[in-house]
Amino acid sequence: MTDLLLKVSNLKKYFPKKKTILSKRKSEVKAVDDVSFEVYEGETLGIVGESGCGKSTTGRMIMGLLEPTDGSIAFNGIELTTLSKSEMRKIRRDIQMVFQDPYASLNPRHTIEKILEEPLIVHGIGSKSARRDLVKEFLEIVGLNAYHGKRYPHQFSGGQRQRIGIARALMTNPKLIIADEPGSALDVSIQAQVLNLMKRLQDEFKLTYIFIAHDLGVVRHISDRVGVMYLGKLVEIGDAESLYEEPLHPYTKVLLSSVPIPDPTYKKESLLMRGDLESTPEAGCAFHPRCPYATLTCKMTVPELKEVKPGHSVACHLFDETQQ
Ligand code: SF4
Repeated sequence: MTDLLLKVSNLKKYFPKKKTILSKRKSEVKAVDDVSFEVYEGETLGIVGESGCGKSTTGRMIMGLLEPTDGSIAFNGIELTTLSKSEMRKIRRDIQMVFQDPYASLNPRHTIEKILEEPLIVHGIGSKSARRDLVKEFLEIVGLNAYHGKRYPHQFSGGQRQRIGIARALMTNPKLIIADEPGSALDVSIQAQVLNLMKRLQDEFKLTYIFIAHDLGVVRHISDRVGVMYLGKLVEIGDAESLYEEPLHPYTKVLLSSVPIPDPTYKKESLLMRGDLESTPEAGCAFHPRCPYATLTCKMTVPELKEVKPGHSVACHLFDETQQ
């Protein structure tokens, strides 16, 4: 096993819920609820779940863009949750983010050159001419041309803008990149190109990725390990091969049943979820209102995330009984 780069322990983010006429009680939305995982140098951890499951909130807390309600985020042995704003700004050189919508994250009034140079200025990297050279170099590294630096974001296609977003994330030579659904706004073929580019850059720059997606199919080929989140909880995490070949949590099985698999001999389990994504139930397993296997124990007791096979953990009381 390679070196530990990031250790997230018991991370929580609760948002206050608005009071309604019917409910005068102060309550909270548990966007991220007691999530723990580790990320090792050079690997890609995919984090998957439906929208509202807490995956992006988790990424934003690691980036320091959102303050956790509780828990610990240790990056390279440094506890991030207790850092001052200026200390966190220095660490950001090593942790960068690629956003889902590159257009929204690129200042439309700035040239690409200025956008890419900005993180270098913020972190005091290089002289003006060295910075301009780096900008040209990184534009070419992501498959654009040096002259593109003089243009504005609206002059590029969605795929090209995502390449610019990736170049910007690379400028400070980070250790960890959090990619928040980086291809989801793009056509499937352009999305595949962006993923291939990210894979190539990972090898070239020895990067570590946390790759956030709403679909297990997207992260399949890029991830070494995959974590599945449901309503703020990490319900399963394991080596990609083990998780895709032998998913243990009923929710992971449902997500996998909607992923197209090109192998005609592969027998997919078709498992039907009941109802829609609801708010977290008052007690028990968060998935119990939709789970076809739910028992009384599931309704009463929250299952803990436990390692049940080497490198594969699941939070389900019946993981053993629901295997066929
Ligand atoms: Fe379903 Fe029970 Fe497992 Fe929750 S603990 S996923 S309700 S079987």
